[in-house]
Amino acid sequence: MTREVVVSAPAKINLSLGVGPVRRDGYHPLATVYQAIGLYDEITVRPAASTSLTVSGEDIDVSEVPTDGSNLALKAAALLGARHGVDEGVEMHIRKRIPVAGGLAGGSADAAGALVACDALWGTNTAREEMLAIAAELGSDVPFCLVGGTAIGSGRGELVAPAMTRGKYWWVLALADGGLSTPAVYREFDRLHDASPVPEPEVPNDLMTALRSGDVEKLGKSLSNDLQQAAFGLRPELEELLELGVQGSAHGALVSGSGPTCLFLAETETHATQVRDWLSSSVPTIVYAPGPVPGARVMR
Ligand code: ATP
Repeated sequence: MTREVVVSAPAKINLSLGVGPVRRDGYHPLATVYQAIGLYDEITVRPAASTSLTVSGEDIDVSEVPTDGSNLALKAAALLGARHGVDEGVEMHIRKRIPVAGGLAGGSADAAGALVACDALWGTNTAREEMLAIAAELGSDVPFCLVGGTAIGSGRGELVAPAMTRGKYWWVLALADGGLSTPAVYREFDRLHDASPVPEPEVPNDLMTALRSGDVEKLGKSLSNDLQQAAFGLRPELEELLELGVQGSAHGALVSGSGPTCLFLAETETHATQVRDWLSSSVPTIVYAPGPVPGARVMR
């Protein structure tokens, strides 16, 4: 029987996303609180003479996902293989549920999933520190997608430290038609701050206090995203949608990362279905998911 490894890789959200002044290397320094949520892409790998990739979508459009060497998951496999001198190819399939260019780090999740999958397939047993270093080379969100849970991200987001938290939350996700380009949102952020100096980013104390106590109402009030105004600039309709969700009993609402996905906080699964139903006439696609969940994991 052909050897096969299947990994599930969760989407990430940012409970706070503090963005600082652009650095000399072109990146913006971040102070963020990540949370992994139960919306998963599935990455399957099998040994093959040469490397190939196919991508399918579960209720989402995957036409913008590249299947050549520019796919972050194939880059991850190539980088891990090069570190260990593996010259075997992989046949990879990605079953996507995480919307593309939705501010949910779908590509980064696939890269983290591919690292875990190939490491298991090749039996390379890469040490955790090395996995994190390879992940950081692939992209700012990839180390967190390996780690999962709730964590503080600094640097350009690649330096990850687990956060002390209590409780389980439910997130209702309003998925927009079409994605938003992360670089375009950062350009809009820079334009909006052209005349005013941007302070160094910080993780808000009230957010950490809410997470430590597991208080969903306080958490809802302390969510923040410095990219939100920039996302509104490119998609003005998102601002009204957030207000609508709060009117419909969500404890808090914010744009996910660089958008355009909008997040609404609920206390229980039943509450999440109420918020979903309230929003359903205004949004074409809504899903809900619990958080936090662990990072990319081998399923079989
Ligand atoms: P982030 O919040 O990390 O900036 P995002 O969630 O907004 O990312 P992704 O879903 O990661 O966006 O996709 C951004 C772009 O990355 C896509 O438009 C696509 O061209 C490219 N890409 C490369 N590899 C992948 C992948 N495995 N899955 C999805 N997109 C990928």
